[in-house]
Amino acid sequence: MVEDIEKTESKKAAKKEAKKAEKAAKKAEHKAANVKENASTLDEADISVGKYGNLPLIRSDPSAPKRSFTYIKELNKSLANKVIWVRETVSKSMVKFSSNISKESIVDIEAQVAEVPSGVAGCTQTDVELVVSQIWVVSSSVPQLPLQIDDASRPEKPGDEDSLNIRVNQDTRLDNRVLDLRTPTSQAIFRLEAGVCKLFRDCLTKKGFVEIHTPKIIPAASEGGANVFTVSYFKGSAYLAQSPQLYKQMAIAADFEKVFTIGAVFRAEDSNTHRHLTEFTGLDLEMAFQYHYHEVMLLIGNLFTEIFKGLRDEYSNEISIIGQQYPAEPFTFLDPPLVLKYPEARVMLKDAGVEIGEEDDLSTPVEKLLGRLVKAKYDTDFYILDKYPLAVRPFYTMPDPQNPQSSNSYDMFMRGEEILSGAQRIHDPKFLTERAKHHAIDIEKIASYIDAFKYGCPPHAGGGIGLERVVMLYLGLDNVRKTSMFPRDPKRVTP
Ligand code: ATP
Repeated sequence: MVEDIEKTESKKAAKKEAKKAEKAAKKAEHKAANVKENASTLDEADISVGKYGNLPLIRSDPSAPKRSFTYIKELNKSLANKVIWVRETVSKSMVKFSSNISKESIVDIEAQVAEVPSGVAGCTQTDVELVVSQIWVVSSSVPQLPLQIDDASRPEKPGDEDSLNIRVNQDTRLDNRVLDLRTPTSQAIFRLEAGVCKLFRDCLTKKGFVEIHTPKIIPAASEGGANVFTVSYFKGSAYLAQSPQLYKQMAIAADFEKVFTIGAVFRAEDSNTHRHLTEFTGLDLEMAFQYHYHEVMLLIGNLFTEIFKGLRDEYSNEISIIGQQYPAEPFTFLDPPLVLKYPEARVMLKDAGVEIGEEDDLSTPVEKLLGRLVKAKYDTDFYILDKYPLAVRPFYTMPDPQNPQSSNSYDMFMRGEEILSGAQRIHDPKFLTERAKHHAIDIEKIASYIDAFKYGCPPHAGGGIGLERVVMLYLGLDNVRKTSMFPRDPKRVTP
């Protein structure tokens, strides 16, 4: 009896051992086939075992496969019949093919490139298709997406607002910006925006400008006390720079002659409009000149012409992708650019029935009207407006020596909206003090700025450009939040 029991026990143990060994062998087999997870989806009858699954978390393991990947955008007939690997997020058709993988997951695919006789509709590459032999999930997406990429990519034509097409509203897009940025349009917008910075930097570097970096934490408000963010600074407080204005001027006083900077600019303005952000990217430049600030103004005008040409020639693909979702008239410009004097603009506006006083600034609607008048008369979406009234410019603006009501200052416009403000700055400390007093500015607070001009400083002029506005207006978009990757406005500081 005891023997019987022992026999049965040892039989049981042997069976257990055999089962264990079998299990271990199976496990090793799977491991060899690089399938560590998702074992539940693999049954023995599956002829595709080892050809799909979830990859282990990629952690820069030295034993990782050495695969060479091809980008989807590089697929064409020259690769026909070749076997390639691509890493992409899953598209709708891929979801159909492999229905267990959630949309937007990232997968590695081994596939043969096959020519197709007629174009593949709805895909970026239309003359070839991939015959997939392996698919591996690198990183899976949660199944419920807060927005559908297809909905967020749908064309928005004017007058189409009442159509039944599903749209994604701006807040949903911005709350889920990582997904919204995956649309072909967002991808193209931020590639073009990088292009504006590159063209700005390259053109100015070629012209002998030096790129500088100015502090963003500053001791006094640079553009007057209003609209400035205060930050606590150890036991005291400091401000976030409203512009690099004073520092680029100090670089000129320090003998750098031509400088530019690209960086964050902060405005504590409660402006809830389509073109105001509380943090934007400033493209700023400052330059010493010989005798006339027009040397600088025209250089900036020509810089814009070069940027527009660069965008037209090097970013036509991006422009066309964006235009499919947000149609707009192509951007027009003249070479050399149009320069209009403020009094001429007043006459044009008067002829159109709008009276502007000699010392008045232009309101936003009037700027837009002027933009339309200029476009109709000169066929350009870009122009320079020179000789602003002195009364509407900051204290450091050089007054016009020939007309006490006017100043050596200019704004530049795209599609009727301001994208640059610039001027000759006062480089004489006594005159600067006088003008500051005239504006009732506390001289003590700006002492270090005035002091910068005490040791000799060349005459100079410059300007500040808003990057997001340039991109918005070049593309004819309706909101600056579309051209700021993570926009900040009075109601949004997330994500
Ligand atoms: P606006 O009158 O449109 O408010 P501004 O006169 O305050 O602009 P400047 O201080 O002259 O503008 O700044 C130079 C450039 O910086 C502007 O032409 C614009 O391109 C950009 N800019 C200014 N404020 C903002 C903002 N709040 N959001 C985005 N861009 C801005």
